[in-house]
Amino acid sequence: MKERQLFCPICGKKVPVLPVSPYRGKHQLFHNAELCQCSVCGLIFMQPMPSAADLENYYKTVWTTSDDVGIVYRIQAGERVRYITRHIDMAPDAEILDVGAGHGLLLEAFHKQGYGNIKFYATDPSPENLERMKLRGILAYPDINSLGNQQFDLITICFVLEHIPDPVLFLTGILNHVKPGGFVFLDLPERDDTFKPLLEPHVMVFTENSLIALAEKLGLSIMHMTGYGQTRERLIANEKRSHFSKLIQNWYTGIISHIYPALFPDCADIFRHTMLYDTYKFDEEGHGRWWIRTLFKKP
Ligand SMILES: [Zn+2]
Repeated sequence: MKERQLFCPICGKKVPVLPVSPYRGKHQLFHNAELCQCSVCGLIFMQPMPSAADLENYYKTVWTTSDDVGIVYRIQAGERVRYITRHIDMAPDAEILDVGAGHGLLLEAFHKQGYGNIKFYATDPSPENLERMKLRGILAYPDINSLGNQQFDLITICFVLEHIPDPVLFLTGILNHVKPGGFVFLDLPERDDTFKPLLEPHVMVFTENSLIALAEKLGLSIMHMTGYGQTRERLIANEKRSHFSKLIQNWYTGIISHIYPALFPDCADIFRHTMLYDTYKFDEEGHGRWWIRTLFKKP
């Protein structure tokens, strides 16, 4: 494997990098690119990196948000709140900002878990998402700059960082809005390049080591970090199965997930939950999993 010197977005300088794989994307913005890994911090990043302007345009014109919030997103929001409240002592009236909040499901999850008095704010670049959240009474803004100098006890950033070409610059901006002693919660995929047939539009692939380097670069301490979800080994094995085997599996799962709830409507919700937990393992933690979650603390 040929080593080259490239600029690493976390190390902030030219470092030796190794090629990982060609980039897998459909849109022309992601054509003819590759993934490289920094040999210092372990971050894997797209090379060449699309410009910030091109990415912004892509999210405005190509990326679509859905009206339908799947049950998976609800479960994930619930698991995030369980994780956060397990690791930090949150005041009942804590001020929380969710960056890239989507439909604002995190607020619902906080309420369900007994945090009915938090002051919840959200940002999201999608006008549709902003409208949806405002209709539900959420204080929603297009970006963090719209919040002036306001600071929060906790800022949550879920499934966002892998889309950002300059994570240090992005998080530095976020940290201006975290109170001293406050927290940043990150939730993101780990090494999803190893099992996702299409990586678009992720421009970064994180590992635990690269997140540790990121925290260090930003002067933050790590309260907790863990992998969670289905094991990567299993995800890779699933992806390697033949087309026919995947088809049979999908067909079987489809039938089971329709027949059982039809026969036993009272148990349909529990059944669906069980099936989803079995597939995604949202509640299982360990190394080498689908996702990583972590809590950084600002000094
Ligand atoms: Zn690096």
